[in-house]
Amino acid sequence: MKTEFGNGSTGRVRVKERGRALLIRPLLNRGTAFTIEQRSTFKLEGLLPDLVSELELQVSRVHDSLQRKDDALEKYIGLVALQDRNEVLFYRLLLDYIETYLPIVYTPTVGLATEHYSEIFRRPRGVWLTPAHRGRIKEVLANAANRDIRLIVATDAERILGLGDQGAGGMAIPIGKLALYTVGAGIHPSLTLPICLDVGTDNEELREGALYLGWRRPRLRGSEYDAIIEEFVEAVAELCPKALLQWEDFKKVNAMRILERYRYRILSFNDDIQGTAAVALAGVLAGVRAIGVSLADHRIALLGAGAAGVGIAAQLGKALVRAGVPGDEVRSRIAILDSKGLLVEGRRYREGEDYKKELSWPAAIAEPLGLVAGENNDLESVVAAFRPTILIGASGQPDMFTESLVRTMAQHCERPLIFPFSNPTSKSEGRPEQLIAWTEGRAFVATGSPFDPVTFDGKTHRIGQGNNVYIFPGVGLGALVAEARTVTEEMFTVAAETLASAVTEAEIAEGLLYPRLSRLRDVSRAIALAVAAEAVEQGVAPAPSADQFTAYLDEVVWEPFYPNLEPA
Ligand code: NAD
Repeated sequence: MKTEFGNGSTGRVRVKERGRALLIRPLLNRGTAFTIEQRSTFKLEGLLPDLVSELELQVSRVHDSLQRKDDALEKYIGLVALQDRNEVLFYRLLLDYIETYLPIVYTPTVGLATEHYSEIFRRPRGVWLTPAHRGRIKEVLANAANRDIRLIVATDAERILGLGDQGAGGMAIPIGKLALYTVGAGIHPSLTLPICLDVGTDNEELREGALYLGWRRPRLRGSEYDAIIEEFVEAVAELCPKALLQWEDFKKVNAMRILERYRYRILSFNDDIQGTAAVALAGVLAGVRAIGVSLADHRIALLGAGAAGVGIAAQLGKALVRAGVPGDEVRSRIAILDSKGLLVEGRRYREGEDYKKELSWPAAIAEPLGLVAGENNDLESVVAAFRPTILIGASGQPDMFTESLVRTMAQHCERPLIFPFSNPTSKSEGRPEQLIAWTEGRAFVATGSPFDPVTFDGKTHRIGQGNNVYIFPGVGLGALVAEARTVTEEMFTVAAETLASAVTEAEIAEGLLYPRLSRLRDVSRAIALAVAAEAVEQGVAPAPSADQFTAYLDEVVWEPFYPNLEPA
């Protein structure tokens, strides 16, 4: 995965640009850090103020200026502008202040950025494909894919975080996700490509807005939609044969269909389904380790049976089996609820939701607990009857974990594990300070969005964020270095296990079920190695030795330092 931009501080780049043309290439521009010699060689004399800054000083300058903005969206705009101007500086800042800026370039602030995308638009990045490009998608994609692309994140933006259909504004999500691949795993930004499949929007208010930048039609559906996806996949396979394609923020039914249709045709996965499931499993594994009760002895209630919920249920089911629960007992250990309550035999599901039948409790499990389809099968009743020890929220609905429900759970369980995973912050099923207070400080809480630490009864609990960023960069890097043909479920499972085992005792003592973000690069590297080895083990990748993977990782992982520039 060599790039024309070199690799870290050792890279050498031959540069043909001179003067201003060099200052506007974000991967080559070093702004005030151009040395006296470089200023002379590349005809930059007089185009920059006198002082030559070190990268460190530049980082502190941009950090100070961003900190002076008190509005999160303004910080986002400032960061995007920096990314467009000087990518080394952008990534150096993100890595040095990861806990400060991840919530800006990604959830929760990126949610605001998608909603206001058309108002805050500055410079284009990535590729928009619209129905107007039908029949020419390869040609259009080639406008951007005229270099070695190894990583694509594509969205149709119908289900952005918990914010629903955001149309063309959804582009902010693949851009943010790819930035996290670079921050988290060191994949060079020039190898990445964000794509918005802008097939229209059913968000009428957005579509009718004077500033809306997207394809101003209702969403394409049915066979026409499928045809665009198919043409897009074919174009990716031809133009970027070595790329990993990550499907992002599709609405549930399309997310599942597309994943199943293409996962064995091209190297691809869906982060909302598979990445979320792995990050949830990691939290559960770290949690059961923290409280010292085997997973085999837990009961799980899962609120939400959408893209995230279904993936979580599948990974947890397999984990229960590995922990020793007999296969035919697994279903009785996980109660899954959607907006109409418990998934249980006797319920009718809408068209396209047949998958819920497989997740439903047979009456033989539900009835002895007094839970019957169409009657008392809401979360509160399920918690009272089923007495879960682990409660997970992936419903996109705020404040679903009510006081009485949480208190009931805490009556039956010494150390509840409570994970309100919905994003953004405004959609979280529960607030950590309440969850910890209602359980008298006994719960381990991990959330989808970042939350401040909580002090209860003199003890401070840090709140781990079950952020997919702990999983997808490592999985992606592992799949790429292994040259895997497929990303299997087992590769996500080993990623989850590696993540859980990376949480230190000191972190657990503080209440954290995920590692501190400052260790993200090390964690992603460990995950990448485990994932690559698993790909080989499963026969979906050629088989170099583990040592070769390590050497290859050393070679490809990019550190944001200015490369050496040579005149071409
Ligand atoms: P989705 O729309 O596919 O599914 C939502 C599910 O919640 C559906 O099954 C729906 O029936 C159910 N639901 C809606 N209202 C409900 C209610 N009142 N009670 C119970 N269930 C209800 O969405 P998704 O992709 O599965 O995402 C769900 C949430 O999970 C989002 O908020 C998303 O941000 C979050 N998420 C978090 C992470 C993470 O933290 N790592 C990752 C992915 C998704």
